[in-house]
Amino acid sequence: MSTELITQLGYVVASGLFIFGLKMLGSPATARRGNMFSALGMLVAIVAALLDQGIVDFTWIVAGMLVGGAIGAVAARAVAMTSMPEMVALFNGLGGAASLLVGWSALSPDSGTITLVTIVLSILIGGVTLTGSLIAYGKLSEKIGSGAITFSGQQIVNSLVVIGILGGAVMFCLNPTDPNWLYLVIGLALLFGIMAVIPIGGADMPVVISLLNSYSGLAACAAGFAINNNALIVAGSLVGASGIILTQIMCKAMNRSLSNVLFSGFASVSNEETVVEGEIKPITADDAYYVLEAATNVAIIPGYGMAVAQAQHVVKELTELLEKNGCEVNFGIHPVAGRMPGHMNVLLAEADVPYDQLLEMDEINPRMETVDVAIVIGANDVVNPAAREVESSPIYGMPVINVADARTVFVLKRSMASGFAGIENPLFYKENTRMLFGDAKESIATLVREFS
Ligand code: NDP
Repeated sequence: MSTELITQLGYVVASGLFIFGLKMLGSPATARRGNMFSALGMLVAIVAALLDQGIVDFTWIVAGMLVGGAIGAVAARAVAMTSMPEMVALFNGLGGAASLLVGWSALSPDSGTITLVTIVLSILIGGVTLTGSLIAYGKLSEKIGSGAITFSGQQIVNSLVVIGILGGAVMFCLNPTDPNWLYLVIGLALLFGIMAVIPIGGADMPVVISLLNSYSGLAACAAGFAINNNALIVAGSLVGASGIILTQIMCKAMNRSLSNVLFSGFASVSNEETVVEGEIKPITADDAYYVLEAATNVAIIPGYGMAVAQAQHVVKELTELLEKNGCEVNFGIHPVAGRMPGHMNVLLAEADVPYDQLLEMDEINPRMETVDVAIVIGANDVVNPAAREVESSPIYGMPVINVADARTVFVLKRSMASGFAGIENPLFYKENTRMLFGDAKESIATLVREFS
C-alpha cells in the first residue's frame, strides 16, 4: 500500500473517531469515552500526517507525543476546576496561533488565487482567535480587569480596523509577492481580536470563549484548504459547527441574543423595579434538618455559588445520607448554571455523583410538584420565577427551574445579594421558601453533621 493511501485511510479513521467522540460528548455518561475517542482520532491524524510528509520517522513522532502529552497532562492536573474556562481560552488561542502559522507556511511563489484566499482566511481568523482568546483568558483569570473596556469612538476605530483588514487582504491576493500586505493583515487581525473582546464583561466570557472556539475551528478548516489536508478540513469544520451550536444554546438558555452578549452586555439591560411581595423567612440548619429528615423526595438545584463554595463533595455526602434515610434525590441542572457550559456537571462528576441523578431542566420541571424539598445551592438567576411572572424583567422568557412548585424550598446563600443578572429574586419571598444563610459548604456540612 502506498504511503499516500495509508495517510488518506488514516484521515478517514481519524474523522470517524472525531465524529463518534463528539456524539458521545452529548451525554455525561459517555463523555469521558468520547474524549478518549477524539484524542485517539487526533493521534491517528498526527501519525498519518507525519507519515505523509515523509520527513520524520517514528522517533520524532514518539518524542513529540511524549512531550506534548506530558505538558497536556500536567496542565490538566494542575488546573483547578474553577479555572477550567481560562485553560480552555488559552488552548483555543493556541489553536488559532497554529492555524495562523500553518496558513502562513503554505504561502509559496506559485500559490493560486484560491489558495491565497484560504491562506488569508486562516491567518485572519487564527489571528483574531489568538488575541481574542488571550484577552478572554486575562479577564477570566483577572490578570486584567474583568469589566468591559469602552471608550468613545470605539465603533469607528473597529470599523477602520475591519476596512484595513479587508483592503490588506485584497491587496495581498493581488500582490502575493509583496509581504508587507500580509504583515498588515496579520497585525490588524491581532489588533481586531483585542478590540472585539475588550468591550465584553468578564461574566460573558464563557459565551465569547465558545464563539472563539468556533473561530479556531474555522481557522483550522481554512488552513486545511490552504495546505490541502482533509483531516484538518474535517476537524476544523466539526469544531467550527459545534462551537457555534454551543454558543447558540448558551444564548438561548440566557434568553439573550448573541449580538446582545457581544455588543451590549448584561449591565446595560434596563433593570426594572421588581415589586416583590411577602417576607424573608430565614431557617437554621437544625430546623432544616428536621424537614429534610421527613422528606421522601428531594431535588438539589446547584448554581454558581456551589462552585464558589466548592461544596460539591459535602453535597454528595448529604445526598448519600438522604438516600440512606429512604429519600429519592435528584439534581436539576440548568444549562447556564454557573459560569461555563457544563459547569455543574463537571463539579458533580468530580464528587462522583452518579450521572443518572442529574436531570436536565426539562426533565425536572414536570416533576417539581412531587418534590418535598427543593434545595437551591448558590443558584439565583436560574431559579428566578420573575422569568415567568414579571413581564418587564430583563430575564423574562429565560427558561428557569421552577423550584417554587416544590412543597418547600431551601435557598442556601450568604446574603440577599443578587446573582449575575443583578436583579431581585421573588423566590426568596415566596410562602414556601426558607432562606438558609451562610456559606453553602458550611451550611451543608452542618446538615451532614446533624444527619450523621
Ligand atoms: P448566579 O450568579 O445567578 O447566583 C449565584 C449565587 O450564589 C449568588 O446569588 C450568591 O449569593 C451565591 N453564592 C456565591 N458564593 C456563595 C457561597 N460561597 N455560598 C453560598 N452561596 C454563594 O448563579 P446561577 O448559577 O443561578 O446563574 C448563572 C448566571 O450566570 C446566569 O445569569 C447565566 O445567564 C450567567 N452566565 C452563565 C454562563 C454559563 O456558561 N453557565 C455564561 C455567562 C453567563 P450570595 O452572594 O448572597 O452568597
